[in-house]
Amino acid sequence: MKESHNFETVLETHKISLRREKTRTLQLNMGKLCNLTCTHCHVNAGPNRKEIISHETISNVIEWFSSTDISILDLTGGTPEMVPGYKDLIRSVRNFTSSRKVITRLNATIIEEEGFDWVVNFLAENNVEIIASMPCYEPKNVEAQRGNGVFDKSIRAFQKLNAIGYGSNPDLAMHFVYNPSGDFLPPDQKELEQEYKKAMMDHFSISFDNLYCITNMPISRFASWLKRNDKFNDYLLLLRNSFNPQTVNNLMCRDTISVNWVGEVFDCDFNQMLKLPTYKNNRSLKVWDIDPKEFQNTSIRTQSHCFGCTAGTGSSCGGALVE
Ligand code: SF4
Ligand code: SF4
Repeated sequence: MKESHNFETVLETHKISLRREKTRTLQLNMGKLCNLTCTHCHVNAGPNRKEIISHETISNVIEWFSSTDISILDLTGGTPEMVPGYKDLIRSVRNFTSSRKVITRLNATIIEEEGFDWVVNFLAENNVEIIASMPCYEPKNVEAQRGNGVFDKSIRAFQKLNAIGYGSNPDLAMHFVYNPSGDFLPPDQKELEQEYKKAMMDHFSISFDNLYCITNMPISRFASWLKRNDKFNDYLLLLRNSFNPQTVNNLMCRDTISVNWVGEVFDCDFNQMLKLPTYKNNRSLKVWDIDPKEFQNTSIRTQSHCFGCTAGTGSSCGGALVE
């Protein structure tokens, strides 16, 4: 009998109900502008994209965030540092709280671009945690995925971040993200972290805190790559056949509110890219219209891409979901 490729059906088979819990993280996608065009990018980000968050939307989001007890603000993009309101946003958050965690999903090459030499000091001064893409410790693999020159620029940027205390000062955490260079699942996160730490230290004197392994999602630019190479169906089958029910308890959509550059609410960044907003009474929502407490225990919109989060040891913006 053919196994179901419907995510909801698979959850039902395992008697699992996927619903929201208390919100811990507001993940704000500040837009699609980026200086790179990586092959695995689920945002289709690039230098010519015009969709970026406005000053007005930033202030609405921050006002709402300050009225909640959500403990983490996670900034993503594109490259958030390229958005004109980025610094004001972080300063506003630091004006009302020093205790809430602010994370930036950093494309480190931006530090080496003209006009962005403020980034290192600014992040350190504002205690911003860094989660940075570094898909391999070998230049060939990084540049195949992210473009020529990216490896050396990233290395120089990480050395600057290390020099100011990132990766050694406990208040300045810096984590790296690995994602596979093709249509396969990430290897064991802990083992790969040891290899990465050794290679980065031995070759470049770079230290970092944790390695997060993230599965490539079969959407956007990576989906196009799979289709061009006639691998899309096989990859979906791999994800489906690797379904691990133990990952579901830790899925990030349970405790994250994801918001796009115009303030609309989604269950995760992937649903954003697939234009699957969170609905209430059949209407999409702006984040400043919701009460996080009422949001608890509501349903989550899933489709077949969700198998990307539940395959093997699972995957989220914080890496693997189970040991
Ligand atoms: S993966 Fe990150 S750095 Fe690469 S194009 Fe997308 S947003 Fe830019
Ligand atoms: S893709 Fe989004 S909604 Fe689906 S399981 Fe992953 S985090 Fe949850």
